[in-house]
Amino acid sequence: MEATLVVQKYGGTSVADVAKIKNVAKRVLEAKKKIDHVVVVVSALGDTTDQLAGLACQITKSPPEREMDMLLSTGEQVSMALLAMALKEMGQEAVSMTGQQVEILTDTGHTRAKIRHVGARRVIQELRKGKVVVVAGFQGVSSEGEITTLGRGGSDTTAVALAAALHADYCEICTDVEGVFTADPRIAPDAHKIDRISFEEMLEMAATGAKVLQSRSVEYARNYNVPLYVRSSFNEAPGTWVKSEGEIMERPIISAVTHDFSEAKVTVIGVPDKPGAAADLFGSLADANVNIDMIIQNVSDHARTDISFTVSKEDLQKVKEVSEKLVGSIGADGISYDDKIARITLVGAGMRTHPGIAAGMFKTLADNKINIEMISTSPIKISCVVGMEDGETAVRELHKYFNL
Ligand code: ADP
Ligand code: ASP
Ligand code: MG
Repeated sequence: MEATLVVQKYGGTSVADVAKIKNVAKRVLEAKKKIDHVVVVVSALGDTTDQLAGLACQITKSPPEREMDMLLSTGEQVSMALLAMALKEMGQEAVSMTGQQVEILTDTGHTRAKIRHVGARRVIQELRKGKVVVVAGFQGVSSEGEITTLGRGGSDTTAVALAAALHADYCEICTDVEGVFTADPRIAPDAHKIDRISFEEMLEMAATGAKVLQSRSVEYARNYNVPLYVRSSFNEAPGTWVKSEGEIMERPIISAVTHDFSEAKVTVIGVPDKPGAAADLFGSLADANVNIDMIIQNVSDHARTDISFTVSKEDLQKVKEVSEKLVGSIGADGISYDDKIARITLVGAGMRTHPGIAAGMFKTLADNKINIEMISTSPIKISCVVGMEDGETAVRELHKYFNL
C-alpha cells in the first residue's frame, strides 16, 4: 500500500532485549525508505510491566492506583529512549517522547484511563524535520496533570489514537505472531491466519480474549476508520488487515474462536427477588470503576434468586470489598467466587443470518463432556463459560467442528 504517514507499534516481545531493539530499528529504517513519515510506538521491554506490578504487590495487596501508574509508565520510557538511540546510531534522526510530550490527554481513571484528545503538535514539528518520532505507548496525562496508563495492552491504543490524530494512512501493529488467527496459535496448532477481518468482528474477538489487539484500540480504529495491519516483527510474511465491513469481501460464517482465562465468576446467593437488588449491587460496582462482563440471574425459587457475573481477576479484590459490604444491606444469603473459569467464544458476522451455530457449539461441548456454566450472545458472537481445565480442549474442538 502506498503511504505517506504510518504509525508502527512494536509490542513487548518485539523489544525484549538490545538485539531485538536493533532489529526494530532496522525495520523502521526499511519503512522510512518507502514512507515519508514514520511514527513508532513502543511497549515496555519483554515482561517489564508484569515485573513492575509484581514489585508493587510485594509491598501492598491493593497498591494506590496513582502510584501504580507512576510505576508502570516507566517501562515504556526505557524502550522509547533505547530505540531512538538505536535509530540515531544507524544514521536516522529520531526523537523519543512521553505521552505527556505528545499530549495524549486522558480522563482521570488511573490504570485504565480513556484517551480524550491527542494534541501531537510536537510530533508533527519533529516529523517535518525528517525525524522518526518514537512514542512511549500505554501512557497519557490526565486533565489533572497526572500520569495515567491505558490498561494492559494499551500501547495498541496509543498507536491507533496517534494514527487517527495524524491522519495516518494506516496503523501497523507489529507483534510476535504473523497476524490475527482463527484461534490463538499457541493453543490451537491448526489455527490459520485471517487475511482480512472487519472492525466489528475484531472488536468481539479482542473483547473476548484475543489479546493480539487491545479491544479499546479496535474501538478507536473503528470510530476513526483507521485501517489496522497486524503483522510479525520478525519476518516479512503478509499480515492481517482490519478494516470496515464494507471493504471485506469474503465473509465466513464463523471467523474465529477465542478464549479468556483472565476472568472470575462471582455469585451472590439468595438475593431477595424484588426490584432494586441488582441496581444496588451493580451500581456500587460501577462506582468502584469495576467492569462487569457477563451477568445471569437464576430463576427465582421461594422469592430468592442467585445472581452470577464475571469480572476481570485483577478486579476481584475490589469486588470482594464492595460486594461483601452490600450482602447485608440487600438481604442476600452470601457470596461465592470462582477464579478457575474459562470463557470460550465463537465470533462471526455470518451468524446473523445462519441459525444453528449456538446448537453446534453446545453439542460440541457436550460431546466432549464439557459443562456450560454461563452463556451470553450478541448478534455476532456466542460465549460460554466453562471450567478452566476444559478451556483449551473447548477451543481446539470448536475450531475443528466449525472447520476454521
Ligand atoms: P504484544 O506484546 O506484541 O502486544 P501480545 O502478547 O499482547 O503481543 O499479543 C500477541 C499474542 O496474542 C500472541 O502471541 C498470541 O498468543 C495471542 N493471541 C491470542 N489470540 C490470538 C489470535 N486469535 N490471533 C493471534 N494471536 C492471538
Ligand atoms: N506494557 C504494557 C503492558 O504490558 C502495555 C503494552 O504492552 O501494550 O500491558
Ligand atoms: Mg499487546
